[in-house]
Amino acid sequence: MLKNATLLSRRILLSPIAGQDVRQMTTAVELARQRRSLQGRVAVITASTDGIGFAMAQRLAADGAHVVISSRNQKNVDAALEKLKNEGLSASGMVCHAGVKEDRHRLIESTAAEFGGFDILISNAAVNPDSGRLLKCTEQVWDKIFDVNVKASFFLAKEAIPHMEKRGKGSIIFISSIGGYLPNFAIDFTGAYALSKTALLGVTKLLSMELGTRGIRVNSICPGLIETRFGDVITNDKRTPTLMYHNCPMRRNGKPEEMAGLAAFLASDDASYITGSNIVAAGGMQSNF
Ligand code: NAP
Repeated sequence: MLKNATLLSRRILLSPIAGQDVRQMTTAVELARQRRSLQGRVAVITASTDGIGFAMAQRLAADGAHVVISSRNQKNVDAALEKLKNEGLSASGMVCHAGVKEDRHRLIESTAAEFGGFDILISNAAVNPDSGRLLKCTEQVWDKIFDVNVKASFFLAKEAIPHMEKRGKGSIIFISSIGGYLPNFAIDFTGAYALSKTALLGVTKLLSMELGTRGIRVNSICPGLIETRFGDVITNDKRTPTLMYHNCPMRRNGKPEEMAGLAAFLASDDASYITGSNIVAAGGMQSNF
């Protein structure tokens, strides 16, 4: 029975429906380029030389924003910048290891100095050095996960706030995860990483309360299983198709580009009355505690 579900879900994961969705996405990007709803905005995005962060940078820039990308490795920053510039998009970038306070400070302060503040912050960086059962988690792994995924996200946002206030308004977007809602979805995979993403849901709620009257909106995006290097550990696991068959109504993994439109929306004035929301983009997977 489980074997059949695995075979069937593998077939579904490769179905033409996915191709059709991707074609619709391409049209959405073309429409975004025409609307330019983020014209004149400046966006700082961490961990944005690949995967979900890069797709978001590409989309926000297509919508008219100047994007400041970053990651740990200068070569990756250069390669990503080249791709964006070849597409005629407005972008700059620098090295920023999200877990290093001095790097975060430099990213925020040099962007603010160059642009007189900025409007959008997407805190996307996360680590999961040792996925597995919670009880296997060492104190060292726990500290690393919470340091980058939660502490760095919060302090990056805290440092960004005065610069957003200078521009009159701002949008902070944390990248959480469906795992934040479903830490028990795949107990062998997610462990302390999922709990760190649950913590981000709370940071989003509380920070939005404190900033509600100061013109800064705070939301999070909770992706489902997305095909990236980081997601490989789960998407390539032989147990995943069965889990997806039973838990994901759309019965397929997501693409990084499928997270990007949501980020562009939350960053834009179209979302002017949306704050404190943890928005799930996970092919219909359950998102209640
Ligand atoms: P990814 O494709 O592996 O991309 C990772 C990016 O982050 C690269 O640009 C990498 O560049 C950079 N990076 C890695 N560690 C960093 C650090 N400590 N500081 C700064 N940059 C760093 O990852 P992804 O799947 O797009 O994940 C992005 C976010 O989505 C994460 O918050 C993750 O938790 C979340 N998410 C992913 C999935 C999924 O299924 N993929 C699901 C739910 C949530 P360098 O190597 O040059 O640093």
